[in-house]
Amino acid sequence: MYLRPTNLNEALRALKERPLCVLAGGTDFYPQRVARPLREDVLDITALSGLRGTELRDNTLSIGGLTTWSDIVESPLPQWLSGLKQAAREVGGVQIQNAGTIAGNICNASPAADGVPVLLALDAQVELSALDAVRRMPLQEFIVGSRRTQRRSDELLTRILIPNRPTQARSIFLKLGARRYLVISIAMVAVTLETDAQGAVVHAAVAVGACSEVAQRLPKLEAALAGHALTPDLAQIALPVHVAHLKPISDIRGTAQYRSDAALTLVRRALAEVTLD
Ligand SMILES: Cc1cc2nc3c(=O)[nH]c(=O)nc-3n(C[C@H](O)[C@H](O)[C@H](O)COP(=O)(O)OP(=O)(O)OC[C@H]3O[C@@H](n4cnc5c(N)ncnc54)[C@H](O)[C@@H]3O)c2cc1C
Repeated sequence: MYLRPTNLNEALRALKERPLCVLAGGTDFYPQRVARPLREDVLDITALSGLRGTELRDNTLSIGGLTTWSDIVESPLPQWLSGLKQAAREVGGVQIQNAGTIAGNICNASPAADGVPVLLALDAQVELSALDAVRRMPLQEFIVGSRRTQRRSDELLTRILIPNRPTQARSIFLKLGARRYLVISIAMVAVTLETDAQGAVVHAAVAVGACSEVAQRLPKLEAALAGHALTPDLAQIALPVHVAHLKPISDIRGTAQYRSDAALTLVRRALAEVTLD
């Protein structure tokens, strides 16, 4: 069975009635099914146009689950969300960015998903819709392990919600791969900083991806950054102890030790670069 509903209720009713594999851009879905026939029943959600696009309402930026990475690159987002745009430009090449969606990246829950650390550093929540209930939870709680989330089989990830911040906030995303472009991350780092009128850091969020089963925030570093002036010297505050809770693996792309060192180097670089105009 292959369903392609045009309205959300129809999609959620179908999901409630029988097990269905959700298909959005297909850029994770199809590579996981190479060289075998598609036997699962499919719910293709690409015609749910209401789930696509960004909107600022009630001091929250809402991003529809079907929003593609190219949509994000092209949206008129506030300047302080530049880290999200930088991450969007790093997801594969332009063809992948045209098809791949933000909810697909989250629900696939790869440890190397570029969208996850940047959204963690933006304190994103996910909205999960079922036919008769909608629930929200922090992204940090939603992804529980490699390829594992709290999504129930009758739910769609309908929106990602990011709390609005003052215009002087800033964010950055840096990715390290084996080459510059079109590459699976060895490590990536996202930073969001907010300052007070005197230019001192009042909110810091730092997240590292591809160095643990699930991307992690660095709470000890975030606490240490508070109160400091927004200068490139912020980089010197980051210490090995701040990344000690990460659990990188060794694989074909790099050893655990290399990933650990790379994470700290990227964090320092991100902290220095985010202070520059
Ligand atoms: C060549 C190539 C390069 C890539 N490069 C990168 C990269 O650099 N960085 C990176 O992070 N990723 C990369 N990817 C992976 C992929 O493109 C992204 O993760 C993309 O965002 C997935 O979105 P999608 O819409 O294609 O998801 P799909 O493949 O359609 O779905 C992925 C999973 O999410 C589920 N799902 C999708 N939407 C929803 C929803 N709204 N509600 C509930 N479940 C849902 C599906 O059931 C499936 O399990 C690459 C893929 C390819 C093929």
